[in-house]
Amino acid sequence: MRRSEHRGAVLTIDLDAIAANYRFLVDRLKGKACAAVVKANAYGLGVERVAPTLAAAGAEIFCVAHLDEAIALRAILPDVEIIVLSGPIAGAEADYARHRLVPTLNHLGDLAAWRKFAAVQRGCRAALHLDTGMARLGLSAREVELIAEEPRLLEGVTVSWILSHLACADEPDHPLNRQQLETLRAMLARLPCRAPVSLANSSGIMLGAEYHFDLARAGAALFGVNPVPRQPNPMRPVVRLQAPILQLRDVDRTTTVGYGAPQTIEPPAKLATVGVGYADGYLRSSSPRAHGVVGDVLVPIVGRVSMDLAVFDVSRAPLHAVQPGCMIDMIGPRYTIDDLATAAGTIGYEVLTSLGSRYRRSYVGGAAAPA
Ligand SMILES: *Cc1c(COP(=O)(O)O)cnc(C)c1O
Repeated sequence: MRRSEHRGAVLTIDLDAIAANYRFLVDRLKGKACAAVVKANAYGLGVERVAPTLAAAGAEIFCVAHLDEAIALRAILPDVEIIVLSGPIAGAEADYARHRLVPTLNHLGDLAAWRKFAAVQRGCRAALHLDTGMARLGLSAREVELIAEEPRLLEGVTVSWILSHLACADEPDHPLNRQQLETLRAMLARLPCRAPVSLANSSGIMLGAEYHFDLARAGAALFGVNPVPRQPNPMRPVVRLQAPILQLRDVDRTTTVGYGAPQTIEPPAKLATVGVGYADGYLRSSSPRAHGVVGDVLVPIVGRVSMDLAVFDVSRAPLHAVQPGCMIDMIGPRYTIDDLATAAGTIGYEVLTSLGSRYRRSYVGGAAAPA
């Protein structure tokens, strides 16, 4: 049986909205380039459909986290620049060359390995990642200083990009933003090589032109996550999750709902059970704060989200919209990824990348489906 014949929940992904979001960010960048970050299967939305959509919208540079993701992306987009944000994997150097992938050199060990490979395979390119305050990946100030004193450490390596990453870009007033900017400028002044520079992620783009350098790297905002939390979201919503009602229950006497009986419902009330649970990435921690939408009415989750099921209190929803088989919107324009993330005590990024594989996925708009 084909998955699309199931009558379960539907995840709709609006490819036109992704393209519009890309163009919105490009517009913000006033002529600077914008790489599309499509790691983690395009933040869970399906790289096979998302990447061609972004390429059609004008993206020529793509970033992924891992070598395997890059090889898969190369098969989808033969001509774009692909930057792999993790360092080169020892023994797999030839794969980067074969698939024309640009690894990111994150420490002197990466640099030494790539230098050795470049001595054999001439002209192979790499990105240099400078740590300016994230302390995750990237060359430290001390390592940059060593390179400044010993430029031969770069011998044979064609540095195509210089990257750094902001830790607090979603908090415009955080002092670390400016500090990272200044640290980056100081490091660039010391480096004995020149290449286009990239600092801003989605939220970094919204910090203003100083943060734009030559290239931004946008991920989450492309997929509808708000890059300016606490302000109205300028991005178009991309994801809609709708689940059919599996069972309705008229509560005529006091009852508890779900595992652990965490919540008591008093009559009269109407409950609706849908077939979406934490195994679908609908986080258990979102109960009891999360809501769904029926018609135009917000309906609260009651009890605990379980593996395959969740229960909504639909007492306040219009009667015609709460019949067996009617859909409850679990994510959509009215109750967004960010709203659900807040309910679950997490961020939109985690909600997106957790989206499960049991939904029927429906793509609307965008580039034609691959054959
Ligand atoms: C994931 C990632 C990005 C994209 O960040 P968003 O906040 O999703 O726009 C950019 N750069 C690096 C190094 C990343 O790991």
